Amino acid sequence: MPDAFPTPPAVWRVALPLPLPRLFDYRPPVGEAVETGDVGLRVRVPFGSRELIGIVVETRPADPDAPEAKPALARLDLEPVLEGELLESLHWLARYTHAPLGEVLATALPASLRRGEPLPDTHAWAWRLTEAGQTGRERLRAGKPRRLADLLHAGPLDEDRLDLELDDWRAGARALAKRELAERVAIPAVAHAIDPRPGPALHAEQQAAVDAILAARDGFAALLVDGVTGSGKTEVYLHAIADCLARGRQALVLVPEIGLTPQTLARFRARLGVPVHALHSGLSDGERARTWTAFARGEARVVVGTRSAVFLPLPEAGLIVIDEEHDGSFKQLDGIRYHARDFALVRGKALGVPVLLGSATPSLESLRNAQAGRYEHLRLQQRAGNAQPPSVRVCDVRKRPLEAGLSPEMLDTIGHALDAGGQVLVFKNRRGYAPVLLCHDCGWSAQCQRCDAPMTVHAGGRRLQCHHCGARRPAPNACPDCGGLALQPQGAGTERIEEVLAARFPDVPVMRIDRGTTQRRDALEHALAKFGTQRGILVGTQMLAKGHDLPNLTLVAVVGVDEGLFSADFRAPEKLAQLLIQVAGRAGRAQRKGEVLLQTHHPGHPLLATLLAGGYHAFAEAELEQREIAGFPPFAHMAMFRAEAQHVDACDAFLRMARDALRDVHAPLDLHGPLPAPMPRRAGYQRMQLLLSAADRRSLHAALDAALPAIHASAEARKVRWSLDVDPVDL
Ligand code: ADP
Ligand code: ZN
Ligand code: ZN
Repeated sequence: MPDAFPTPPAVWRVALPLPLPRLFDYRPPVGEAVETGDVGLRVRVPFGSRELIGIVVETRPADPDAPEAKPALARLDLEPVLEGELLESLHWLARYTHAPLGEVLATALPASLRRGEPLPDTHAWAWRLTEAGQTGRERLRAGKPRRLADLLHAGPLDEDRLDLELDDWRAGARALAKRELAERVAIPAVAHAIDPRPGPALHAEQQAAVDAILAARDGFAALLVDGVTGSGKTEVYLHAIADCLARGRQALVLVPEIGLTPQTLARFRARLGVPVHALHSGLSDGERARTWTAFARGEARVVVGTRSAVFLPLPEAGLIVIDEEHDGSFKQLDGIRYHARDFALVRGKALGVPVLLGSATPSLESLRNAQAGRYEHLRLQQRAGNAQPPSVRVCDVRKRPLEAGLSPEMLDTIGHALDAGGQVLVFKNRRGYAPVLLCHDCGWSAQCQRCDAPMTVHAGGRRLQCHHCGARRPAPNACPDCGGLALQPQGAGTERIEEVLAARFPDVPVMRIDRGTTQRRDALEHALAKFGTQRGILVGTQMLAKGHDLPNLTLVAVVGVDEGLFSADFRAPEKLAQLLIQVAGRAGRAQRKGEVLLQTHHPGHPLLATLLAGGYHAFAEAELEQREIAGFPPFAHMAMFRAEAQHVDACDAFLRMARDALRDVHAPLDLHGPLPAPMPRRAGYQRMQLLLSAADRRSLHAALDAALPAIHASAEARKVRWSLDVDPVDL
């Protein structure tokens, strides 16, 4: 029976960022009262000898039977920072990942808000000439400062506008500011729309896709924009976003790490006419918090961001776009192991807005959802404009003499493409000079001392580096085992390929691009811009598979395919097929027809055969059949317990206990393990895992819900570092 005089709330129930599956009660600081509207506030509370920042998730009457709650130290906000749909969706995420709510909420907040700092100002910035600048402008010599001063002569311009008007205007602005000729001023964030630039007229497939999206705009719908590289998917998104903006709503665009280029942002800015916010790991904490707050306040309208942008508040949401939805970078591999695509779909549903998933190589999960009618399947099968699809050939290198892994046929084809004035991309599925340092006398190889993995050879053979724990050491001059001098790099990485190509084609530039040469986010842009459209060779890894437009690229030569053909991970074929199609899509993007050459020892491998004969969709269909037979996702649902410890026995004991706890709840689960992890030792820790698989999602989650309290409480859990990963991607 409802209480006639309900007891007023007297305590805050707070979610703290701790790896404990529970919430904590606090009274407000002395002199303050609890209000029902306090849910979503940040509070500072004492915890043991520490102070923590938590989020109020419930207000409740004091429990007369419990010891009196401790007082909180401070209420940090007047208004909730997390509320409405976002807070609800984060509750869902905590249940789905079986992670502590406090850790999930902390993950969703920008770092400075997590630390308890106040919400930042959300101004945009403009530049204007000072009085001295107005009068002194004409005396400036020609150059960047002068060009900027001329632009500002007519009046202040905001930084978005300057991005469009003048290359590298910041250098000019710095010079003017130093001489007090110009100054930076804050302006309201929403006030400075520009005229959008028109895009190309849509072709029929694009128009059909846009029509379908607009027809679905009034509620939740998932639409798979499945279009070959260069088919104009981005144009389709832009039309959908423009419509969303015209209705006064906000749009969230998620892109993979390497897809967020200045070019993408400039294209969006120019076409949409409103400020387009970028959100990625390269920003300062302050910038991230500003964007977050501008969205929460409804001031910002469009964001293009990487994985964590999925946590932006969207009080006026109209559309969510996930570009390259198949990309692995959307899954977070540590901490809260969420998948941004899947969480975006949950949010889209809660917000009642359409979610576009775009890719030339959709994930098998999304294709399955489209087949089952859960997603609307929009296909773009033609390249836009006059661009032709590339022709693809396999180059059989069995018994051929290889130089740095390149066959004579490959080198000849590269020569022909260069002779015709084209650019060549040599794509290698690995980085480093060579994977392993090997002694030809006794077979010794350089292994990392802290991981079960070989070290890779860098810096022209002088340095060894572990890609898993970062350990570095100089390469030995003689074999540590036999003392012999026959130490040789085995296999060929990008550095070695670069050397061989530079020697073979001395009259053209050869540029290597990988994480080793381009540490910084914009370094890749600068390097590629400098390379331009000249005749020459680019050598690179995954980083070059997408992103930057290379209009003069006529040949893509792929080596190192074979390493991906035979792998224990059931997702390896899917990843390899996606990578091959994506990198092939780089060839012939403009007027010149492209060619792709795949070098392999296994020309008859079913993956390559199906991919070449039928394209990605034929491959995907065959692969889905295999997955169904084998009982793998998307036909089953998985979760993984992982454990790390100094001693393997502790891992084994923990995972056995977890397995027994899961057996005790009698759920229809398959349990595999405990087994050693794919890399059984990393950075000095022993690693094991336990895989759970269930035919339906519900039984998997029910079993976890039932077993986790005992697992958390066990003595074994305190002797290891352990984690649970729902929908693991790296098995
Ligand atoms: P995707 O995202 O599918 O790779 P984009 O939208 O980036 O494709 O388009 C590829 C190229 O084709 C871009 O240079 C774009 O400006 C151009 N393009 C897109 N749609 C059209 C169209 N309807 N007519 C002419 N060019 C187009
Ligand atoms: Zn040796
Ligand atoms: Zn290591």
